[in-house]
Amino acid sequence: MTIKLFNTMTQKKEEFIPLDEKKVKFYVCGPTVYDYIHLGNARAFVVFDVLRRFLEYRGFEVTYVMNLTDIDDRIIDRSIADKINVEVITSRYIQAFLEDMDQLGVKRATIHPRATENIEEIIALIASLVEKDYAYSVDGNVFFEVSRFEKYGDLSGKKMSELRSGARVSVDEKKRSPLDFALWKSQKPGEPAWQSPWGAGRPGWHIECSAMSMKCLGESFDIHAGGVDLVFPHHENEIAQSECATDSKFARYWLHNGFLKIEGDKMSKSLGNFRTVRDALKQHSAAEIRLFFLQKHYRSPIDLTEAGLKAAASAAARLSGFYSKAKSRLDDGEDVATSEASGSDDVQSALAPFEKLKSELLDALDNDLNTPVAVARLFDMVRDANRLLAKDSLSAQEMDALRFVVTTLEELDAIFGIIDKADQGGSDKLVGNLVELLIDIRNDLRGKKEWAMADKVRDELASRGVVLEDKADSTTWRLR
Ligand code: AMP
Ligand code: ZN
Repeated sequence: MTIKLFNTMTQKKEEFIPLDEKKVKFYVCGPTVYDYIHLGNARAFVVFDVLRRFLEYRGFEVTYVMNLTDIDDRIIDRSIADKINVEVITSRYIQAFLEDMDQLGVKRATIHPRATENIEEIIALIASLVEKDYAYSVDGNVFFEVSRFEKYGDLSGKKMSELRSGARVSVDEKKRSPLDFALWKSQKPGEPAWQSPWGAGRPGWHIECSAMSMKCLGESFDIHAGGVDLVFPHHENEIAQSECATDSKFARYWLHNGFLKIEGDKMSKSLGNFRTVRDALKQHSAAEIRLFFLQKHYRSPIDLTEAGLKAAASAAARLSGFYSKAKSRLDDGEDVATSEASGSDDVQSALAPFEKLKSELLDALDNDLNTPVAVARLFDMVRDANRLLAKDSLSAQEMDALRFVVTTLEELDAIFGIIDKADQGGSDKLVGNLVELLIDIRNDLRGKKEWAMADKVRDELASRGVVLEDKADSTTWRLR
């Protein structure tokens, strides 16, 4: 088994050899927590979750770190616009993020470090860069001097000279060059701030990830991942500041997922063309959304369309439908009794095609996590195994083949998370939709000040184990 991963740094698929033979140190840039995450963010978190699970499947022990950016311009802007304290915003959206990840079947990271809980480490890292003359302070700000790092531009393939001529004349007179970026920002009135050797202020975004990744994983680690929008400047800057501070290689494999797009544009908060994970989960199960992502290679862009989601939904239904039928056929077990004994050749012949498909599937995953091919092989297995299910009775060998397919599905679903096991008749989704309907009706009643009826809806649901929780601008529900 050789796992290959496409390294943005070398622009090649490389054999993946971790620093420590059986352990993988893996860092993924996490969300900036000022709002609900959208499906574009979810794509990044799902595909790297699948890579993590695949590495675990291949026997590696993975330390998976995903930071939570809880201090940033966007958070401060939101706090000012909504007149809500920064911590209230960040704790609300960290909670929402973790709930969304759970709902999407994304495994929790081994560590979810938060920027505001690592200010000491961040300041120490900046201080070492100032000490070594890679960074300079002006009026309470600290900037990284890009021209001091020769390898700047290696990750993004940008040449320093082009960057310089392309850079707008700096509006920030404090910087020596327009390319220099902030490591520490001096406090502006009303902004949250921490004391530092350069005065009160807060860290820049890039240095947060360097400090947290190195704190959790060491100066050098195996994989650093995020969406392709992070290649420049975020990851380029992370490399510059980390390698200058430690004189060691920072991350060894740089992985980037392609965009989720809508009508050709990147899904993003700023363009307003986004769909939150919460919203999508009202209509689609986690399995359907994950399958929708995994049917494309993680580096390719995907267009989000209703038709695409529908196709994923019917494919997921085929998969879970087969799974539940095959399981009950195996549980029945009566076929075994009617089957005639036969030689090992027959065993081979019933199993062999399925084993071949499984090995092709794993080869595809070894090859830069080629999930579209892997998922296609899984559906080939299901198609062939459905032929077995169509028979009135199965031989012992055919039952073994069926058992092999079911076990393989379960084994691989621990990586993909695309089978709705608990939702075999779609009943969970139906329950969710019905509760949402009752919440809408209750809100209409409340709007018309029909309090008694509104309370009746709430109380009747509660007596059936469905608890409604009213928030400032929405009502959520959970099972008691
Ligand atoms: P942010 O909270 O904006 O820093 O994004 C969190 C993660 O989602 C980063 O890895 C981004 O690169 C990734 N991301 C954001 N938008 C998209 C998108 N439309 N498609 C794929 N990945 C995205
Ligand atoms: Zn980052």
